[in-house]
Amino acid sequence: MNLILFGPPAAGKGTQAKRLVETRKMVQLSTGDMLRAAIASGSELGKRVAGVMERGELVTDEIVIELIEQRLPEAEAAGGAIFDGFPRTLAQAQALDDMLKQRGSGIDLVIRLKVDDQALMDRIAGRFAESGRPDDNPDSFKVRLGAYNDQTAPLLPYYAGQGKLVEVDGMGSIETVAAGIDKALDA
Ligand code: AMP
Repeated sequence: MNLILFGPPAAGKGTQAKRLVETRKMVQLSTGDMLRAAIASGSELGKRVAGVMERGELVTDEIVIELIEQRLPEAEAAGGAIFDGFPRTLAQAQALDDMLKQRGSGIDLVIRLKVDDQALMDRIAGRFAESGRPDDNPDSFKVRLGAYNDQTAPLLPYYAGQGKLVEVDGMGSIETVAAGIDKALDA
């Protein structure tokens, strides 16, 4: 089972993905986590992406596609991946379809967490104080939300057209949203 957790920044994708890793033994593939690890390690890649990420802009398709490609064998061995924060552009979505097809698999389900923009701004205001993520400040967050609306949300018709899109209300408690996701997965 290959699942995409889809939604704007701070919608709860990471939290829900981590729960699914526990409950369903799937592998979480978060390009954001991979990029933050690259920055923390001081690698060349980390140096290249740090400024872009801090501003809240998207890094290039080539970089994230390669990061994902490197991790596909591991996800396959575990029986499936939860894609968290990837794909974010149409080029990434098409590359993902191609890579999975070459391996004899594909995306089974796309779960969209629906959250309204004001709720996201409120969430992020709380998170910035605790997370220490440089891109959780209000200015960068606005850029991230803009990138989602301009470049990522247009993927919704792509997946709806493939009959793979399911919407889950992302506004409730972590447990309520988790129950919605489980229902979609078990349907
Ligand atoms: P996230 O943790 O998913 O919110 O990602 C944090 C930041 O990493 C984003 O704001 C982008 O700068 C970068 N990033 C993560 N995933 C991608 C992706 N699939 N495409 C482009 N940039 C990404």
